Amino acid sequence: MNKPGNGHIYDRLGVRPFINAADSYTTIGGSRMPQEVLEAMLQAAEHFVELDVLHDRIGAEIARLTNNEAAMVTSGAAAGITLSVAACVTGYEPGKKRSFPHLKGMKNEVIIHRCQRNGFDMAAAQLGVQIMEIGGLDGTSEFELEEAIGPNTACIIYFDTTQYVKGALPLEKAAHIARNRGVPFIVDAAAQLPPVDNLWRYTELGADLVIFSGGKTLRGPQSSGFIVGKKELVRACRLHAGPASDAVGRPMKVGREEMAGLLAAIERYLKLDHAAIRNRHEQAVEVFRRELEALGYKSERVFPGPTGQDYAFAMFNMRGANLTADDVLQFMKEGDPAILVGLAREKENHFCLNPLHVSDEEIPIIVERFKRLGPIVYESQA
Ligand SMILES: *Cc1c(COP(=O)(O)O)cnc(C)c1O
Repeated sequence: MNKPGNGHIYDRLGVRPFINAADSYTTIGGSRMPQEVLEAMLQAAEHFVELDVLHDRIGAEIARLTNNEAAMVTSGAAAGITLSVAACVTGYEPGKKRSFPHLKGMKNEVIIHRCQRNGFDMAAAQLGVQIMEIGGLDGTSEFELEEAIGPNTACIIYFDTTQYVKGALPLEKAAHIARNRGVPFIVDAAAQLPPVDNLWRYTELGADLVIFSGGKTLRGPQSSGFIVGKKELVRACRLHAGPASDAVGRPMKVGREEMAGLLAAIERYLKLDHAAIRNRHEQAVEVFRRELEALGYKSERVFPGPTGQDYAFAMFNMRGANLTADDVLQFMKEGDPAILVGLAREKENHFCLNPLHVSDEEIPIIVERFKRLGPIVYESQA
């Protein structure tokens, strides 16, 4: 439902809902939870349980479902980064739990490729660790990683994305060096679904811990995520997570509802017909391109997704056109219902329509809005 009626909470609060033709952006709520997920959350909410026991059981279930040694639920992928790094700093040593953020004399260095640095570095840095950059934007040599590793290295964090392939060592190579040097290798795979087999592929490639968001394409609770990987390290991650009150991860606690909802989302995701979903996305991309080209837009199909995911989206080039990509964004946002189209980060004056979170009923609403905006003309030299 896109238009909440009178009395709906968003209506009462004067908060406008969006049709999301952009992406699984946290700033607009990530994704929509399917019925199975909401149902699991309702069931979990009904009764009190021992949270530690639930944590254990759900972690074991997620590990089994994803072919991993161990797993644990977190309050999101960012929390997964914090807990994973904390685990690598202390190992499973309860006596070191309260060390953060004063880590002098401890393993307090985290290695990251310069080209992979992003806002989520804060999730590691807030622990008091030093971020050690390696490489440049155009490339990284193996010796740069070798030389960065020292006695204080806690771990290496690797962000798997097609955006920076030029600048970073290939994942397998970096993981191999890490293993030889006995340093844990963490993959931030927050948004790396689909393909579904990424749930076990990274650990197969040699990662020790892999972090996923629960609230992106997986469509679990927005405030959920999970870590999969080596048993000893996941055990150390748990050391720093709630419900214990003296854990550095206590402010990132996970409720029983989110735990249950995330498990339901993973179970559902594994059963989905991913080929059919991919097909549906391709068809939506085709409809968007055909309808907008009829209005004069220049379009292209882009594949893979923004960070290398297994889905296509439609990109529209507004260079030399009578409207800018920003004009389009503004018009779509101001209409009723509001529609959020994506701006292309790396391509100036382009916008995209991403079918990932667009329902079948929403497609014609989006197309109609473009028709209302009217035809597009380009300067002949554009
Ligand atoms: C979305 C994202 C995160 C944060 O995920 P949350 O589940 O919202 O905490 C971390 N890293 C990357 C690369 C992401 O795309």
